[in-house]
Amino acid sequence: MTKITVAKGDGIGPEIMDATLSIILAAGAKIEIEEIEVGEKVYLSGNTSGIAGTSWDSIRKNKVFLKAPITTPQGGGYKSLNVTTRKFLGLYSNVRPCASLHPFVSTKHPVMDVVIIRENEEDLYAGIEHQQTDEVVQCLKLISRPGCEKIVRYAFEYAKQYGRKKITCFTKDNIMKQTDGLFHQVFEEIAKEYPEIEHEHWIVDIGAAKLADTPEAFDVIVMPNLYGDILSDVAAQIAGSVGLAGSANIGEQCAMFEAIHGSAPRRAGQNLANPSGLLQGAIMMLNHIGQTEVAEKVQNAWLKTIEDGIHTYDIFKEGNSKEKVGTREFALAVIKNLNSKPTLLKEVSYAANSALTLPKYKRKPAAKKELLGVDVFVHWQGTNPDELAAIVRGLETSEVSLTMITNRGIKVWPEGFEETFCTDHWRCRFKSAAGKPLTKEHIIGLLTRAVGLAIDTIKTENLYAFDGKPAFSLGQGQ
Ligand code: NAD
Repeated sequence: MTKITVAKGDGIGPEIMDATLSIILAAGAKIEIEEIEVGEKVYLSGNTSGIAGTSWDSIRKNKVFLKAPITTPQGGGYKSLNVTTRKFLGLYSNVRPCASLHPFVSTKHPVMDVVIIRENEEDLYAGIEHQQTDEVVQCLKLISRPGCEKIVRYAFEYAKQYGRKKITCFTKDNIMKQTDGLFHQVFEEIAKEYPEIEHEHWIVDIGAAKLADTPEAFDVIVMPNLYGDILSDVAAQIAGSVGLAGSANIGEQCAMFEAIHGSAPRRAGQNLANPSGLLQGAIMMLNHIGQTEVAEKVQNAWLKTIEDGIHTYDIFKEGNSKEKVGTREFALAVIKNLNSKPTLLKEVSYAANSALTLPKYKRKPAAKKELLGVDVFVHWQGTNPDELAAIVRGLETSEVSLTMITNRGIKVWPEGFEETFCTDHWRCRFKSAAGKPLTKEHIIGLLTRAVGLAIDTIKTENLYAFDGKPAFSLGQGQ
């Protein structure tokens, strides 16, 4: 018996949760349910996080959370419960299987069967944003080695467990050589440990185009957070419907399972909603807690029900479908099929699987770190980079000299183009003049002199070499 935390959520949430639980319990799931309240009522009671402290206790104790969609009230500074849950509980892996159910559910891609594995905690979603000048704001894109290793290893272990043949990695490392470059590098490193699984890398733009056009070319795709956020919705939509997809959010200790759609308030309370998305989430949960036989039984019964043409309004189509049913009737049809298997759709087999266990991240020994220079970012209202260079060269000493100025990453000094559009946000790169590593005192000296010369410095970024390898980007055009 596994104790799980359940939240019935808002809108159609309670109806699809009741349907889902009735199916998995009828299939023999050995679960004990502890119900908590999250979402609209909690938000409107004045709790901007949408979840009470005692509910956190339940999730942290049970470590498995099955969550129906919730309504986030508009305005009023309410925080997204999904983002908070992922971050607080370290749910680093978002898994979203997207398979077409052709010919029973309309799709342009009849043989699609893709699993998107999205890194869930890092990238631009760290939410570290600042306005730095009148004209420029920034968002920090943070990618870490443990973050990459955990998600990439999860993808390979998932592929191994589910008999998947190929993993594709999407990044934009031709542009973001440090951040996406690290993700790609870790992918290549870990792929070596799984020689039985084919691996490949695509630049995300052409990869996304290929996914939308020829999804049958992909099997498992692993990617950083932002690309995964966008492309997992694309994949679910082109598979047939976002209403049919479930998702798992997996951490080292806890996990959360859900449908990918929202609370569809306009459909609430009418016995109309399709419970399939949440049921898919629940099936992933059963696999996660090792109840793989039950998961297999439910998935095959669900496939059989779809194949029988018993469809809720959202996927009902004259010709494809046989009977239009409500939420409850759909659940009863799945329960009736619990000992049946699909005949045309591919039957699943999970029973021999075991719960995925991943090794803990092991930190590598620290590299030798040398300070080669510093980028000093300056807020300056002028337009001629030569004038700015003349001003900031006042910060130079015999040990530190100005080597470059960029504006939005493009080199504008020395030898810039007058055509380059410049904002009020300038990066002035200082490096050691003597070829010797710099110290923090050199940087403090630069900033102190800047105060004296009334130069508005807004931030600095240190330029390091790790084990002798410079680890920062060049200016574009440098
Ligand atoms: P939505 O997914 O609720 O609805 C989009 C469309 O899909 C609607 O036409 C809806 O009727 C239909 N639909 C969705 N699920 C369905 C189902 N199971 N069966 C049949 N039809 C279904 O998205 P939205 O309208 O943008 O958002 C509504 C609310 O849901 C908002 O408050 C939003 O914040 C919230 N939301 C929550 C989650 C979550 O909790 N994970 C995710 C997305 C949106």
